Amino acid sequence: MFRSYQYTENSYLNYSMQNNLFQQKEIALARQFVEKNHIKKDLQKNCPLCGCKTSRFFFNKWNVDYLCCDECDSIYAVCDENVVEAYLSHKDLLDFRLSSDYQNQITESRRSVWADYLEWVEVRAYRFLGRNKRLTIFDVGNRFCGLSDLTRESELCGRYIAVDSAFMHGHNDMIKSEEADLVFYNDVIKSEINPSERIRSIRGYLKEDGLLFLGARAGSGFDIITLKENNTKIYPYEHVLLPSVKGITALLNNNGFEVLEITTPGVMDVKYVMDDLDKLGDREEFVRYLLKEKNETILQEFQRFLQKSCMSSFIRVIARKAMV
Ligand SMILES: [Zn+2]
Repeated sequence: MFRSYQYTENSYLNYSMQNNLFQQKEIALARQFVEKNHIKKDLQKNCPLCGCKTSRFFFNKWNVDYLCCDECDSIYAVCDENVVEAYLSHKDLLDFRLSSDYQNQITESRRSVWADYLEWVEVRAYRFLGRNKRLTIFDVGNRFCGLSDLTRESELCGRYIAVDSAFMHGHNDMIKSEEADLVFYNDVIKSEINPSERIRSIRGYLKEDGLLFLGARAGSGFDIITLKENNTKIYPYEHVLLPSVKGITALLNNNGFEVLEITTPGVMDVKYVMDDLDKLGDREEFVRYLLKEKNETILQEFQRFLQKSCMSSFIRVIARKAMV
């Protein structure tokens, strides 16, 4: 497996962020839902990534407990499957996210990030698949019309199939097995109750030599571990699963995939902790000291260190079907 030492040169300060007002509204809607839908706290659950039976308490947010797996250090919420499903189809939240204002604002702020992503996929597809034009792409769980449009328009794409995408309103394109050259599965695992089942379905979509491109917030990342419940970007039931690098590798290996490349090219960890610096716990004196220096060169260097050592909270994986 290739653990890349390449890192993103973008300054985290130049990185475009989702408009704060939209984010606050989204979080407020989620909080209302969670407060109306409390769950029993004594639910027993194995680690959804590696299957380990033991875990330790990590944090509590809005009365929902998050545990950290003793084996792979992934983080997962103690939650009821039906409640998470109800959250994901909660009408107020869906309507808000599908509104043209919301979608347009996301498209505007992320277009260049998405274009970079598709270029990166093109290079990797050529490297690992030997072809990168007019491919059949299955896009699983995509919430953003702008990303879907950009993917369809790219040279990479010959046929585009949306699977379980919010903007398809519960309708799926015709799915046939072993048809996909590439499967995109980006930023979806955070809300998965049964990730093993999902990964096995994805395996079924892929041609024999097809590739899975997975992107996720990683529980083993700097801002997640440092901020815990004070991370404003992480909340129930939007985030019920934050896999570690070790956890995601175990999940893929246990469900018929060989990991070809795993990197954490995140650029936002330091910025996220800076944003919530006043909420740092008492034990985080070193982090507070480091970040209060506010020397941009040092902080960028630190973010690069996180990227290079696979410790950023944004993880990218390329995997292919393992021989059986
Ligand atoms: Zn685990």
